Amino acid sequence: MSVSSLDISITKVENSRIGEIDPANIQFGKFYSDHMLIAHYEDGAWKTPEIVPFNNIAFSPATTFFHYGQAIFEGVKAYKDPNGNPLIFRPQENWKRMNRSAERMAMPEVPEELFIEGMRALVELDSAWIPSSPETSLYIRPFMLAVDEFIGVRPAEKFMFIIITSPAGPYYSNPVSIYVQDKYVRAFPGGIGFTKAAGNYGMSMYPTMQIKKMGYDQILWTDGYTHKNVQEIGTMNFFCVIGDTVITPAITQDTILAGVTRDSVITLLKEKGIKVEERDINIDEIEAAHKAGQLKEAFGTGTAASIAPICALTYHDDKMELPDISTWEIANWLKAELADIRYGKKADTHGWVLAV
Ligand SMILES: *Cc1c(COP(=O)(O)O)cnc(C)c1O
Repeated sequence: MSVSSLDISITKVENSRIGEIDPANIQFGKFYSDHMLIAHYEDGAWKTPEIVPFNNIAFSPATTFFHYGQAIFEGVKAYKDPNGNPLIFRPQENWKRMNRSAERMAMPEVPEELFIEGMRALVELDSAWIPSSPETSLYIRPFMLAVDEFIGVRPAEKFMFIIITSPAGPYYSNPVSIYVQDKYVRAFPGGIGFTKAAGNYGMSMYPTMQIKKMGYDQILWTDGYTHKNVQEIGTMNFFCVIGDTVITPAITQDTILAGVTRDSVITLLKEKGIKVEERDINIDEIEAAHKAGQLKEAFGTGTAASIAPICALTYHDDKMELPDISTWEIANWLKAELADIRYGKKADTHGWVLAV
């Protein structure tokens, strides 16, 4: 089942489309680089992956994933170091997480060589697509689909693993205004909240649309029993600073996505001697801390946005405003520290950066 010493067939584009993008103005998710990687799983094994020109793919209308959402994805980023060399941030963690998602969704394991070496070969070939101005990167999107041509409901037997990449400009650094959601539920014990399964994002569109109409940017989800314990924001993990302690929901009960940024942040904070607690955190505790002037900072973490500061958290009719972001000590330090590691400006003491 494993692809040892990855053999890849490569078909290059005749003419690169790179001239079509304006490096000074890159809209996230709009442009895709010249090539993509595709691997097929059939008869219990992965076939030789191919790197081919980025193009549309045809599927039978009866293909499984269209109907039953047996589909998972990952999000990774490549950066350029000061010498212009491509670096990928912690892709092994994404590989492990993709396989946790795959197991829960009854999909085959993706071998490490296919995920890592396939990604490395693709990024190397399209390295001209990694932008080099500050805060830019190449977003890498690996995903897997169930592709049986069969509309009966059963776990599929044929799958496709694909990697596409997209140049990404600086993520808007406007602080986000958050609505604490206690009607709709994202994740519950025994569910799939810990996976990057497509359905987790499809289900979030309607509640997100409702709160956007009310003027908020994102939802902070709460648990499905008490509607009090906070979980995550959109596609980011949630952190808050109460007094001198950083608190984030623990990865328990299958309800929290184990973010690579989350793990990196916790590691950096602990090394710096800052107190970090991974535990249940209740919205009443956050409200009480805010009233007492102890809610110092709150932010989301994720590959796309890195660290996204929160300007206000609204729970029912209580709008909890956070102190001015320029005064925050922890989130601002973390953002700079993470950027220095990702862009190869600081020694990689954790083995987080993979040279392409
Ligand atoms: C992807 C994602 C995150 C962030 O994970 P990173 O590995 O840090 O990018 C957090 N929560 C959800 C729900 C996600 O989908």
